[in-house]
Amino acid sequence: MQLSGKVAFITGAASGIGKQIAELFAVEGASVVIADLNLQAAQQAAAQITASGAQALAIEVDVTDEDQVNAGVEAAVKAFGGIDILVSNAGIQIIQPVQDLSYADWKKMLAIHLDGAFLTTKACLKHMYAQGRGGSIIYMGSVHSKEASKLKAPYVTAKHGLLGLAKTVAKEGGSAGIHANVICPGFVRTPLVDKQIPEQAKELGISEEDVIQKVMLKDTVDGEFTSTEDVARVALMFAAFPSNALTGQSLMVSHGWGME
Ligand code: NAD
Repeated sequence: MQLSGKVAFITGAASGIGKQIAELFAVEGASVVIADLNLQAAQQAAAQITASGAQALAIEVDVTDEDQVNAGVEAAVKAFGGIDILVSNAGIQIIQPVQDLSYADWKKMLAIHLDGAFLTTKACLKHMYAQGRGGSIIYMGSVHSKEASKLKAPYVTAKHGLLGLAKTVAKEGGSAGIHANVICPGFVRTPLVDKQIPEQAKELGISEEDVIQKVMLKDTVDGEFTSTEDVARVALMFAAFPSNALTGQSLMVSHGWGME
């Protein structure tokens, strides 16, 4: 097992990609904290993991609320004795062209994706530095950390911003053995994507099938969605990597969309 004895704090882990990461990390021996806005779904996810004999804790956290983030991280430390891995993953999508996007929605997107990443990083770093056994911080970016698409200005902006945060945390944490990296998935069929297919079809005036084939999967090598399992495997690699050799980096997992 690659994560025996480690404690992982995973935001947005009640659903989709975060849930899959929590399940894989638990299989690999980690104690996992499912930190999510949706407590009921978080409790269900945690119950599934504990039923398999692993350790999991559900905590209600809005990643944009500093007090809730700090309290959630403290509860995790109290339950499991420390924090070794942060996966800053909670996120939403809002589909609008810039000229129609409200300022409130712009701020909401930046708050969840960027403020959430900052607040959870700050709260976890405090423990990682004090523990003195290094750590791994993983940000859920996107191919939209490097490319743009119509209708997604705040998402693209925030996901690009995570690259800067990861590089800075990598430099600051290096001497303490704390790594920071970004995963950049292509489209994955989660509730976040299922919601935006009809929304994009409406905005672009095309069918839902055309949104999938001509917008989402157009630049992949095989017309396939990326899976939650694919993303979780990359998260495990970053989480388990033993040295500072792999830090400040970003890795696309996208069926070839956005090759560098
Ligand atoms: P999802 O909707 O399945 O899960 C997101 C989870 O985040 C939900 O459980 C939700 O309750 C939680 N959440 C939302 N706002 C929150 C908040 N303020 N505080 C705490 N939790 C909150 O979505 P997903 O597709 O699994 O997305 C997870 C991450 O992956 C997001 O950051 C998303 O941008 C990123 N991502 C997704 C895709 C994709 O195609 N699905 C591609 C690239 C990146």
